[in-house]
Amino acid sequence: MPADTVPVTGWGRTAPSAARLIRPRTYEEAVRAVRECGARGGIARGLGRAYGDAAQNAGGAVLDMTGLDRVHAIDADGGTVLCDAGVSLHRLMEVLLPLGWFVPVTPGTRYVTVGGAVGADIHGRNHHVSGSFSRHVLSLELLTADGRIRTVVPGTPLFEATAGGMGLTGVVLTATIRLQPVETSLMSVDTERANDLDDLMARLADTDHRYRYSVAWIDLLARGAATGRAVLTRGDHAPLDALPRNARARGEPLSFRTSRLPAAPSFLPEGLLSRTTVGLFNELWYHKAPRARMGQLQRIPAFFHPLDGVPHWNRVYGRGGFVQYQFVVGHGREDTLRRIVRRISERRCPSFLAVLKRFGEADPGWLSFPVPGWTLALDVPASLPGLGGFLDELDEEVAGAGGRVYLAKDSRLRPELLAAMYPRLDDFRALRAALDPRGVFVSDLARRLRLQATSS
Ligand SMILES: Cc1cc2nc3c(=O)[nH]c(=O)nc-3n(C[C@H](O)[C@H](O)[C@H](O)COP(=O)(O)OP(=O)(O)OC[C@H]3O[C@@H](n4cnc5c(N)ncnc54)[C@H](O)[C@@H]3O)c2cc1C
Repeated sequence: MPADTVPVTGWGRTAPSAARLIRPRTYEEAVRAVRECGARGGIARGLGRAYGDAAQNAGGAVLDMTGLDRVHAIDADGGTVLCDAGVSLHRLMEVLLPLGWFVPVTPGTRYVTVGGAVGADIHGRNHHVSGSFSRHVLSLELLTADGRIRTVVPGTPLFEATAGGMGLTGVVLTATIRLQPVETSLMSVDTERANDLDDLMARLADTDHRYRYSVAWIDLLARGAATGRAVLTRGDHAPLDALPRNARARGEPLSFRTSRLPAAPSFLPEGLLSRTTVGLFNELWYHKAPRARMGQLQRIPAFFHPLDGVPHWNRVYGRGGFVQYQFVVGHGREDTLRRIVRRISERRCPSFLAVLKRFGEADPGWLSFPVPGWTLALDVPASLPGLGGFLDELDEEVAGAGGRVYLAKDSRLRPELLAAMYPRLDDFRALRAALDPRGVFVSDLARRLRLQATSS
């Protein structure tokens, strides 16, 4: 198989590293790639939407799994799909929506693969109702370090280590996934503005249970009485009888249409996203939102994936790239959340992509991120002076409150805090040591956070 050595980064474009990129097109090629990946090991990669260094491997091999992208079988009566791990959620939506089925969990972009969805055990706006992606996985075919392909099912240690295991237990080759039935491809959406953080948290706590999907965009540059003001967007799949007659008459209630603008240019100047420009954007965004609007019909891309409309939007942060910081703190730790929001807004971090959400029950994956409570995610230009030290301080606060940061977004956490954040870390390491004693599967993230089975 041809393998070029190329620089690889995550979506945040920080910390690039060079690796041999191998693109298997058959399972046999994938087995061979794992067997021959060499002393620096290998790691699976999907569409590279993890923000940090999870899907890269300096000096080793990176297995680009997007060449294995077949949808093998759809049970249109029972609502399941069996597909290769390199299939994107975008492709699944194209195939499944016309049949009246939707993916059980989608993140803020549909350009992620099924393998990446399992590897990070991704969550969506419906976590409080549906849990994370792996809860809906009925079985996996996993290629392990010994070159064997194992069938892995929920409730087993290998499944729980693989769900959220960041590709470190092996390469997911296929998955069987339980789907969500829908009558239409439209969303019925309620939008409200919240005046400040307490107002927002009260609305989420009081009424989130009424909605399948819920998320709040939060203005982290607002200060004083407006600290934490937000636009709350919640909804569910629109039933057939909610569609205007003409749309129903057209007989296309399940059509899935997407549109994309021209890509962001490959080079944009540093500092485009300054406090002034982001402050202006946030001001406009907040005031443009309706104070309260109920039952608006929106297409799936507009509701779930607005950023997918601009290919390579991550270039807007310039060459230095950006850090996405996402943490969760449990219920009862609202004071920590309030303090962190206040600190971020006082520090004037120019963040225009900041969202707050309430998680439901924790997921079984040993390194799965969600725990019941509050999760905040924000983008910050990596070049912001003093950012590293500031985020280190936030890590301490989060860990001190029993919370954790999300590994799929991370590129900078220090390893000392990991055990406090992920209590099943020792189980994960022990399973890896037994399953992969030579440390075949390794990534930059694994080395940085000492997740690898052996010292490599
Ligand atoms: C705009 C945007 C919005 C996002 N919103 C959310 C969100 O709402 N919720 C959320 O949870 N995440 C979110 N993410 C993060 C994203 O969903 C995850 O990082 C996801 O893992 C990316 O999938 P990928 O296919 O791009 O995988 P990659 O980024 O290529 O890899 C991610 C991890 O999965 C592993 N992996 C990939 N393929 C396989 C495989 N076949 N077998 C084993 N392991 C594999 C990799 O080794 C790596 O550890 C968002 C990312 C972006 C860019």
